[in-house]
Amino acid sequence: MQAPTVGGIQVPRGQGQTIRLSRGASLADFADKINANPASLVQVVFHWGEMVTATQSVNDETLQLLGEELNYKVEVVSPEEEDRELLESFDIEFGENEGGEDALLPRPPVVTIMGHVDHGKTKLLDAIRHTNVVSGEAGGITQHIGAYQVQTEVDGEQRKITFIDTPGHEAFTAMRARGADTTDLAVLVVAADDGVKPQTTEALNHAQAAGVPIVVAVNKVDKEGADPAKVRAQLTEYGLVAEEFGGETQFVDVSAIKGMGIDGLLESIVLTADAELDLRANPDQDGEGVAIEAQLDKGRGPVATVLVQRGTLHIGDSIVCGDAYGRVRAMLDENGENLKEAPPSRPVQVLGLSTVPGAGDNFLVVSDDRIARQIAERREARERTAQFAQRRRRVSLEDWESVLKAGEREELLLIIKGDVSGSVEALEDSLLKIDVGDEVALRVISRGVGAITQDDINLAIASDAVVLGFNVRPAGRAGELAQREGVDIRYYSVIYQAIDEIEAALKGMLKPEYEEVQLGTAEIREIFKVPKIGNIAGSIVRSGTINRNSKARLIRDGIVVSDNLTVDSLRRFKDDATEVREGFECGIGIGYTDLKIDDVIETFEMREKPRA
Ligand code: GDP
Repeated sequence: MQAPTVGGIQVPRGQGQTIRLSRGASLADFADKINANPASLVQVVFHWGEMVTATQSVNDETLQLLGEELNYKVEVVSPEEEDRELLESFDIEFGENEGGEDALLPRPPVVTIMGHVDHGKTKLLDAIRHTNVVSGEAGGITQHIGAYQVQTEVDGEQRKITFIDTPGHEAFTAMRARGADTTDLAVLVVAADDGVKPQTTEALNHAQAAGVPIVVAVNKVDKEGADPAKVRAQLTEYGLVAEEFGGETQFVDVSAIKGMGIDGLLESIVLTADAELDLRANPDQDGEGVAIEAQLDKGRGPVATVLVQRGTLHIGDSIVCGDAYGRVRAMLDENGENLKEAPPSRPVQVLGLSTVPGAGDNFLVVSDDRIARQIAERREARERTAQFAQRRRRVSLEDWESVLKAGEREELLLIIKGDVSGSVEALEDSLLKIDVGDEVALRVISRGVGAITQDDINLAIASDAVVLGFNVRPAGRAGELAQREGVDIRYYSVIYQAIDEIEAALKGMLKPEYEEVQLGTAEIREIFKVPKIGNIAGSIVRSGTINRNSKARLIRDGIVVSDNLTVDSLRRFKDDATEVREGFECGIGIGYTDLKIDDVIETFEMREKPRA
C-alpha cells in the first residue's frame, strides 16, 4: 500500500483492482472493501467540497470518482443485478420465456388507467368491472384484489384484458422504479368538461417514458359543457392524434357513470394492443411474475396478489416472492373463486406465503421449498444490512451531528405504515419526489404493511421520526406509547393530502430567509452638537418614513460610509417622535459622529421572505 494521496490524508491506494459496491453504498462500505479508515474517505470527499458522512449513501459518480482517486476500479451493482446474481447462484434464470418462438402463445394485455384527479379513473374501473363479467354471473366483480380480468368480444372472438385496479401513474411508476414493468398499455382518462390538466400530461409523460401505447378515454361525455372534440384537439399537441384526424391514437367517448362506451373502449384496447404490441408468453414453463398488492389478513395470513407474466402458476407450487416464500395453498380470482392454475396475464390472490411481500417484488416458482426459503432468506439479509446502514447513520455518528450543527442540512425522517403494500410504495415514491431544495431532505427509514405497532413507535422515538399511517391506526398500546413519548403520528387516506402536508412541513423546516426592505431616507441639512449624546443630524425626510429604533446606514456621495447603525433618537422640534414622514424635518441620532451636510440616512428592516 502506498500513502498519502489527497491533501496529506493517509489513504491506502489500490493497484487497479476491481471492487464491487451496491448501488447507494456509503463511504464506510467503500472503506470496508479496501481496509481503510472511513473517516479518511470522508476527508477526501470533503476536499472535493462535498459534505457526506461515512454511513450516508453516496451516488454512483462519487463512488466512481473515489475509485479513480484511489486507483481502484469501481463496479456499482444495482439491486436488480444483485438479485439476478443471487438467482443465478441457484441456477435460476428470471424474466425469460423458455423454449423459443414456438413455445410462445398470445396473452392478454395488462392495462393501467391514468389521468388527472377527479377525471373518473376510479369510476371507469368500476364501470368496466360491472359491465363485464368473465364468469358469466350477474353482479360483476365484487372483490378488490389489486387487479381483475374482463372479457370482450372483438371480431367474433372472446378476448381477455387485465386491469390493474390501482389507478394513477404513481403506482405505475413506483413499480417501474423497482424494475417491474407490469403494464402493457395505458388508458388515459380525460374529462370532457375539464380537458387536459397537469396530471394528464404527467401521466402521458410517464406512459411515453415507459414506451407504453395509449388509448384515450374521453370521460363524462354525459355532462353539460362536455367538449370531446376539444380534448382531441388539445392532445394533438402532445403527439396523440386521433384516428379521425389521420393519427394513430384511439379516442373513445365514454361516460363512466352511465356505463356508456365501455364496450367500445375495451375493443379499442384490444385493437391497439394487437396493432402495436406482440404480447406472447410461454404458458408451459414455471410461473413467474410480480406482486402487485399484498396484505396481512387476520384469518388467512399473508395474502398477495400476483400477476403471472410468464408460465403458469399452480396450486402446490413452491414460490418465492421478494423475501417471502411458501407453497401456494390456494389461489383466488377477483370473484373469490378458487383457481387451480393461473396462466400469463392472470392476476390471482395467493395464500400460503411466509410474510407479506412488497408491491413490485418479483415472484417465481422454484423446484422445492428449501430453495425458496434460501433465496428469501438471502434477500431478507440483504435488506436488513441496508436498513442497518441507515439506522447506524441516524443514532450515533458524531460527524453527522456536526453536519447538522453546521446548518448544512436538515432531515425529516418518516416511518410509513399502510393497509396494502401498493399504497405504501406509491406514497413513499411520491414523497421522495418532493423537492424543496438542497437544504432539507426527507428520508423514509422504515415502511410496512399493517397497523402501527410499538416497534414502529420505538423506532420513531429512537430516531425522532414522524409516523405516517395510510388507512391504518395504532394497534394495542402503540397509540398510548406514542402519546406519552410525544411521537407525531399523521393519518391519511388520500395520497395527495399526505404529499401536501409533508411538503408544507419540509418548507417549515427551512431556515427563514430575510430580505432587506427600505423604510425611508432623510437628507442631512444641519448638524447639532448635543452634549453627552453626540452629533444629531437635522434632516428632512425625503422618502418613506424614519422610525425610531430602525436600522440605518449613512451614505455620502452615493457611498455607504457606515452600516449597521440604529436610529437611537428621533425628534420633531423638542418632542420625541416614533415616526417622521416624508417631507417633514426632524432631528435624527444614529450614534455616529462624523456627519456631513448632504449625507443621506437610509433606514431599513429585515423582513422574513415567504417561501414560494
Ligand atoms: P378519479 O380521481 O380520477 O379516480 O375520479 P373518480 O372516479 O373518483 O371521479 C371523480 C368524480 O367525477 C366523481 O364525483 C364521479 O362521480 C364523477 N364522474 C366520474 N365519471 C363520470 C362520468 O362519466 N360522468 C359524470 N357526470 N361524472 C363522472
